[in-house]
Amino acid sequence: MTEATALMRLQELDLELLKCASSLASMPQQARLKTIGLAARKVASELTGIVGQRKDAELELADTRADLAHYREKTAEVQALADAGGHTHREIRDFEQQLTSLAKRIEKCEFQIGPLTERLERLERAEKNARLTAERLEGERATTESALTEGSKALRSRIVELSRERERAAEGVSPEHLAAYEKARKRFKGLAVERLAGNVPSVCRVKLQPSSFHDLAHGDEITECPYCHRILITSEEGQA
Ligand SMILES: [Zn+2]
Repeated sequence: MTEATALMRLQELDLELLKCASSLASMPQQARLKTIGLAARKVASELTGIVGQRKDAELELADTRADLAHYREKTAEVQALADAGGHTHREIRDFEQQLTSLAKRIEKCEFQIGPLTERLERLERAEKNARLTAERLEGERATTESALTEGSKALRSRIVELSRERERAAEGVSPEHLAAYEKARKRFKGLAVERLAGNVPSVCRVKLQPSSFHDLAHGDEITECPYCHRILITSEEGQA
């Protein structure tokens, strides 16, 4: 294989590799995985929020219950003191005031416990649902992932095959031309090399002037197109 043929082959292989990569990227499972990933991230962030609120609700309920216990204890103490007897009118009035104030606080706590419990239960249900959704999404992700692996088997083995052949083709190209090819490949999105057919380069198709055609035909086999600046192979297909 001449260097020019190796270079053309390298381009052919790279173009096919690009096609394979794009087929792999456009497999329906890829889009599904993206959707699942987005949904999973959304659920995870919702779950973080719910867990935070659930912990707050637990604390608030525990605090209210502790307050309630405290006020009840205090009420029993004041009641016991009052029951002991032998107090002045003023002392009795103080006891009554304390008991009234404690009773109001107890009533307030008791009133809060119902809604707080309901709120906590609601958050616990939301948390459970979010965890179930996350689990379901993880299952779907795993199934889709294995469907993708299964469905892309042939494509992936073709990519491995092409990559090996590319290595072999690259060995037939000088380091200078290989470097020029890599650079041109990025610049021209894959179509970096063209070949003369008569006096017309195969990609840009700008007919060469007789003088430049003469110069190119008598110069190096691998050169640069004077018009589009792609790598130009001056020998024709099948010609040594
Ligand atoms: Zn050209």
